[in-house]
Amino acid sequence: MNGAGGVFDELVGQSEAQRVLSEAARGLGMTHAWLFTGPPGSGRSTAAVAFAAALQCDDGGCGECHSCRTVLGGTHPDVTRVIPEGLSLGVDQVRTLILEAGRAPTSGHWQILIVEDADRLTEAAANALLKAVEEPPARTAFLLCAPSTNPAEVSVTIRSRCRVLVLRQPPPGAIAELLVARDGLDRREAELYAAAAQGHVGRARRLATDADARVRRHDVLQIPRRLTGLGACFTAAVELIEAAEAEAAGTYTERSAAEKEALETALGKGGTGKGASKAARGSAAAMKELEKRQKTRDTRAQRDSLDRALVDLAAFYRDALAAGFGARVPPIHPDMAETTRAAAGKLSAESLLRRIDAILECRKAIEANVRPRIAVEAMMTKLWQV
Ligand SMILES: [Zn+2]
Repeated sequence: MNGAGGVFDELVGQSEAQRVLSEAARGLGMTHAWLFTGPPGSGRSTAAVAFAAALQCDDGGCGECHSCRTVLGGTHPDVTRVIPEGLSLGVDQVRTLILEAGRAPTSGHWQILIVEDADRLTEAAANALLKAVEEPPARTAFLLCAPSTNPAEVSVTIRSRCRVLVLRQPPPGAIAELLVARDGLDRREAELYAAAAQGHVGRARRLATDADARVRRHDVLQIPRRLTGLGACFTAAVELIEAAEAEAAGTYTERSAAEKEALETALGKGGTGKGASKAARGSAAAMKELEKRQKTRDTRAQRDSLDRALVDLAAFYRDALAAGFGARVPPIHPDMAETTRAAAGKLSAESLLRRIDAILECRKAIEANVRPRIAVEAMMTKLWQV
């Protein structure tokens, strides 16, 4: 088994998954297709990459050899990692990837295709993948990742063809350990961010390492105090949405520009004579398609960011509710204890619960494609009044 330094050390609070994967890497219960599932932030893709390293390593994932290091670093020739949000994952690209995944591994171990966010594949792409998973080449392993929050999003058929590995939500204590050991935080800070991240490892590390993320969290947690009238509600709604847009805007700017440039180069500039105008029309369509997909990706990033803020806000009222009852549960926002106690002093349990409901409703409405601005304004007025 792997001791300290092994590739599975990357996983936080997942001892059962570690056991299953390191056994499989040594041949026990190994199969061609795996589905890594679990709540957001539980480390699905981290687990898949660690498993890929363990499969390529002569020692079950030592974490130190050339194979381990190149897999973890993303440069191993026999491991391909794709993220559908990289935009290029239509059915044709999936077919190409599957063809490549069918090649004999150069290392003599496995040829591995990791598909993150497999729930975001188009239907045609998912079907192409399913075919490959059903008849896998002898030395090929497919490692798919998808959130468990919405099981309907990965087809039942794909699920039934894979060995499903369920990751649990890592406990705050395990996340705090990681922040101390990896990011050098002191214990108090580590515990604060681990609690505030509510089981999301990436979020905890972001809070630990990104001052802007801490400022945004702080601003969100000031909202309850600021809702003193209808005007304040609308202001708070606009600011919350603008903060989410600002956070999301930076996420893909460079990548989008690079994609556009790559496409322009691939399409060639201009051309004359027969067929040139037909080619131009084709180019325009390809560019339009790229822009459409980039816009979808930006929208999703904004929604993810806004949802993060709403989760933080709901936890504020949850902490107030717990404080009001004198419940002995650890707070999600320990640094806000005074403010949540004050809120508990002013608001009844019923009205705190109604506020939590209002936030959940807002999240659902946005998920159902209600314009965020409309949904957030409605929520803010409820947070002020109910
Ligand atoms: Zn190794």
